[in-house]
Amino acid sequence: MGHIAYINGRYVPQSKATVHIEDRGYNFADGVYEVIAIHKGQLVDEEPHLVRLRRSLDELKIGWPVTENALKVLMREIIRRNHLKEGMIYLQITRGVAPRDHVFPEYSKSSLMMLTRRFRPFDPEVIAKGVAVITIPDIRWKRNDIKSISLLGNVLGKQQAREAGAYEAWMFDENGDVTEGTSSNAWIVSKEGELITRHLSNEILGGITRQTVLKIAREKKIKFVERAFSIEEAQGAQEAFLTSTTSFVKPVVKIDGEKVADGKAGPLCRALLEHYGTYMDENASNP
Ligand code: PMP
Repeated sequence: MGHIAYINGRYVPQSKATVHIEDRGYNFADGVYEVIAIHKGQLVDEEPHLVRLRRSLDELKIGWPVTENALKVLMREIIRRNHLKEGMIYLQITRGVAPRDHVFPEYSKSSLMMLTRRFRPFDPEVIAKGVAVITIPDIRWKRNDIKSISLLGNVLGKQQAREAGAYEAWMFDENGDVTEGTSSNAWIVSKEGELITRHLSNEILGGITRQTVLKIAREKKIKFVERAFSIEEAQGAQEAFLTSTTSFVKPVVKIDGEKVADGKAGPLCRALLEHYGTYMDENASNP
């Protein structure tokens, strides 16, 4: 049995899940999404993801396709139907189907689709091997705080990274400061030993993993500062890493071909990765 997807009220085999050609998600990328990790069959950080989803929908004035409580039930049901233990749920909400016209339709029912993907279980030893990143100009729009499905700038950046043999591209603003990765947030431990990630603004997505790692840092009394840092500062840093729902806490060991410190995962990153694993074990929501 293949994967079961959910589309507008129905659970269907993923290969049979289709959308209308005038869905505004398809025509205009007029929609938002969330990716929520599943660990031990349970949702990780469900509430913060729903808070962010609510905010994205509100910013774009897209209505809920179902109530928030119904969505929680539907997510548990798709996990159950797919016998999912380790992996993620991708969920997407668009403004719905209407004759193609830029202006919002007077009447439309938001579309909701969900699919799941299986992952190998979280393994800090594998993750700790680290990855390379390249740096590229941030060519995206001015509302990167909204988790919109309009991701062309991110797609082009990630492709450029892959073609350069790197895992991720860190984008930089007009000042040469790193904004974020194409699908992750960027972090460094500076020469002075300061844990740094960029402050929240319209220029970056407020990652849920970023938020959780900051919470862990606070609990463990690890000092941090939320501020911009330059590519040069990153290259000269003691440590660098990235965070996302699907990459967890991943060491960055090379930036534009230059090793970060000795080119191995740093101690603070490793510690945060271990803490994040424990956090996932303890904080997956009860079904
Ligand atoms: N920034 C961007 C641009 C992203 O696409 C993502 C992942 N969706 C993140 C940051 C990390 O967010 P999260 O930790 O919520 O997965």
